[in-house]
Amino acid sequence: MIKNKFTDFPLEEEIRKAVSDLGYRYPTIVQQAVIPELLAGKDLLVQSQTGSGKTASFGIPLCEKVEWLENKPQALILEPTRELAQQVQEDLINIGRYKRVKTTAVYGKASFIKQKSELKQKSHIVVGTPGRVSDHILKGTLSLDKIRYVVIDEADEMLNMGFIEQVKEIIQALPKQRQTLLFSATMPEKIVELSQNYLSEPKMITVEATEKTVPKIQHAFLPVADEEKFAALEALTVVENPDSCIIFCNTQEKVDNTYDHLVDAGYPVGKIHGGMIQEDRFEVMDAFRNKRFRYLVATDVAARGIDIENITHVINMDAPYEKESYIHRVGRTGRAGKEGFALTFFTAKDQELKKEIEAYGGFKMNQISLPNAKQVARSRGAFKKKITTKQVLQSPKGKALEQDIMKLYFNGGKKKKLRALDFVGTLTSIEGITAEDIGIITIQENVTYIDILNGKGSIILQAMKDRTIKGKQLKVHKARKK
Ligand code: AMP
Repeated sequence: MIKNKFTDFPLEEEIRKAVSDLGYRYPTIVQQAVIPELLAGKDLLVQSQTGSGKTASFGIPLCEKVEWLENKPQALILEPTRELAQQVQEDLINIGRYKRVKTTAVYGKASFIKQKSELKQKSHIVVGTPGRVSDHILKGTLSLDKIRYVVIDEADEMLNMGFIEQVKEIIQALPKQRQTLLFSATMPEKIVELSQNYLSEPKMITVEATEKTVPKIQHAFLPVADEEKFAALEALTVVENPDSCIIFCNTQEKVDNTYDHLVDAGYPVGKIHGGMIQEDRFEVMDAFRNKRFRYLVATDVAARGIDIENITHVINMDAPYEKESYIHRVGRTGRAGKEGFALTFFTAKDQELKKEIEAYGGFKMNQISLPNAKQVARSRGAFKKKITTKQVLQSPKGKALEQDIMKLYFNGGKKKKLRALDFVGTLTSIEGITAEDIGIITIQENVTYIDILNGKGSIILQAMKDRTIKGKQLKVHKARKK
């Protein structure tokens, strides 16, 4: 029987409520196929695109399956990029919020020590990039003996990025008694091989691209010499006047140059590439997601899997080196059934690549011509108006979920020898507060964060003014971080 309501799945109330608060009314096709099989204990090989709801397809069953009382990690999710690891962590935190499932993310260019300390505490699920996950395994800071579930996400991208050997080493270090899931948008030979070696009698699930997942993208190209690219970009953006646009370049240097050029021309613009520190990368992605600027200049770092709604235009300043990258780049637009416009600048030497992309993608790119000076002049007024008008702020994902939740900050943590139990003890001694109202607790060296559920945050804030935790008077206020 096809399960087409979330209530058809045997899920705990805490998970069901989170799914409903996230605004998911019906399971997507991949969720209908994956959730029951994962709950039933099967290994799965899933071919499906991003944007199909695949994160929740494994996130919901994993949050359901983890044993809350077990402190060591029970599920490991491997992602090809730090941005994806962070995004998946956020989705899992949202799904597991009421069950208080703790999901820890580990990735490079972020503090190893801080991750080590988080891994030492209760961590039900760990999501990370292969490099940093391996580091933690080697240094003995990520315990593997309780891992029962493994997700290799975006496997074809892991292959493209040269991570497959590392992924194999990680899998070999895991307990044999486990459930393994492999997700990939395409199924090249090497991925099939990987699944044969590490999955046990996997069920193959192929989710045909549907109306909703087949992006409605118009593919266009413009033949242009390298030295004419800036002028072409300006003329086209003025005439096209996009609501939201990603401009891809092949190198960090070109991203920097294009960004500087657009800043000088007064565009509301941000940039992202692998040479930037991780905090800045996250900040830029968050700002773009929250519509603080309309243009983002990026290398391929931003091309894969990132879930940002309503990007109307993708412009390839440089044709990508590989046909697969083209698909990933333009896939940032035309999401969720909306229309998108993808434009690529081809120089004379890129002609072969254009043919390859068309053959690979099964579409034809239409040649467009550069708008003339008159057209540009006519469009300039509307363009100026748009780039100087603030966009309507997007409410972040999980907003409904967070309405009832207040994150509290306590100025004491491990150094003061405080444990989760000490906090729970004090908080549940407050009238009207039960263990059900206490969400995820994160204890750091000097501070602790606690999610307070069911709209009870202000009661606790008030009560904590004259209460102590383990005999210690702590400062308590609403946390600034998410
Ligand atoms: P993903 O393919 O995991 O990147 O998900 C794409 C987008 O769909 C994300 O913004 C999810 O929050 C959203 N989503 C996932 N499952 C559902 C659902 N059942 N109903 C509506 N939206 C969903």
